[in-house]
Amino acid sequence: MRSKIAFLKQEEMPNQWYNIQADLPNPVQPYLHPGTGKPTVPDDWTPLFPMNLIEQEFSTERFLDIPEEVLEKLLIWRPTPLIRAYGLEKYLNTPAKIYYKNEAVSPAGSHKPNTAVAQVYYNKVAGVERITTETGAGQWGSALSFACSLFDMPLKVYMVKVSFEQKPYRKLLMNSWGAECVASPSPDTNFGRQVLAENPDTPGSLGIAISEAAEDAVTSKVKTKYSLGSVLNHVMMHQTVIGLETQKQMKMFGDYPDVVIGCVGGGSNFAGLSFPFIRDKIYGKEVSIIGVEPTACPTMTRAPFLYDFGDSAATTPLVPMYTLGHTFIPAPLHAGGLRYHGLAPLVSQLIKDELIEARAYDQLKTYEAGLIFARNEGIVCAPETNHAIAVAIDEALKAKEEGREKTILFNLSGHGLLDLSGYDAYMSGKLTDYSLPQEDIDKNLEALSAYPKPK
Ligand SMILES: *Cc1c(COP(=O)(O)O)cnc(C)c1O
Repeated sequence: MRSKIAFLKQEEMPNQWYNIQADLPNPVQPYLHPGTGKPTVPDDWTPLFPMNLIEQEFSTERFLDIPEEVLEKLLIWRPTPLIRAYGLEKYLNTPAKIYYKNEAVSPAGSHKPNTAVAQVYYNKVAGVERITTETGAGQWGSALSFACSLFDMPLKVYMVKVSFEQKPYRKLLMNSWGAECVASPSPDTNFGRQVLAENPDTPGSLGIAISEAAEDAVTSKVKTKYSLGSVLNHVMMHQTVIGLETQKQMKMFGDYPDVVIGCVGGGSNFAGLSFPFIRDKIYGKEVSIIGVEPTACPTMTRAPFLYDFGDSAATTPLVPMYTLGHTFIPAPLHAGGLRYHGLAPLVSQLIKDELIEARAYDQLKTYEAGLIFARNEGIVCAPETNHAIAVAIDEALKAKEEGREKTILFNLSGHGLLDLSGYDAYMSGKLTDYSLPQEDIDKNLEALSAYPKPK
């Protein structure tokens, strides 16, 4: 019976990942070694990642087989449902059709286990004995904890301090899956101790937490590697199961989207849904692809395209991306997953090549959209996801104004059942909008003037 169910599910599930590097009109520019300024080679990355994942990072192969062992784990919650949002359509009184891909049904409650399961598998077969990582709102930390529990892999998570304090349940979820979780900056690393000495009250940032997790991986006595939940090419590729699955499901509906929408932090859930559609667009299909971010962390809409470090300690290779500067510490926004200073190089290149449209939304508007969705479709979404819902609603209202049909698709990247404090703040009128002052952007970018510029 079990295998029959698995067989039926696989009708909808892809058994390969899609690598958009094979189809880019302009290739992503190489990562640079911070010391020499030369393009990095796979060996430069071995202190942090196992070679099998590094090979994926550099691969230009169009499709890569998903290993059996990974498919078996994905089957726990995949395929995820593609749902037509009839309730929301009716509420908006729009001629548009709205579909959402529900990634909230994974055990960790978001899209992130799609890459977590793959990454832990590749570390396991490479003989890695322990993994470290950072987490912002705790979504990635809990996804990786879940995946590590499936493969019996020890994990230490450095969690941005403000979220560690605001979101105790995420930490407990990680502990439930057997992982260790500490607030970052922590006294456990040299970099953490240095930051704490200079600024004991810092809320922390993803960049600081990345530095700590990377330092731990490089200096640990047991064979430890580091794992990143977004930004890198191999992460974007693992997430394409979302879009590939959606394409099969859309076909079952006999439909194809005019607009594809995702919220953007590092870019992975957006890439996962949109890359297979961007492939169609590159080959002539008419489809709009919209990424949305918070006005408080406007990487796509206000930051320049530069070489920058992935972490605050400036230790990673230089990455070509839209960036607010690696020293940027965002306001303590509730959409914690959208607070990273940079953006996936693949998504950056596609914005540069105008295959993606970028928008920024204010916090209040996204919560308003989230409540409309919850009251008409039932799901209380993650604050990150609410950004995508806000765009979907605006697109549906535009279709109503123009009096024309339109098919809208967005990614429901996660549920908000562990983020209710943000809803509490919104509903009790304590939440405010915050737009990043230009001086803050300029100040953080000054530090980058000494580095090479991408083309
Ligand atoms: C982490 C997270 C995001 C943002 O990360 P991306 O890599 O940009 O996808 C968005 N939504 C949810 C629910 C998340 O957990």
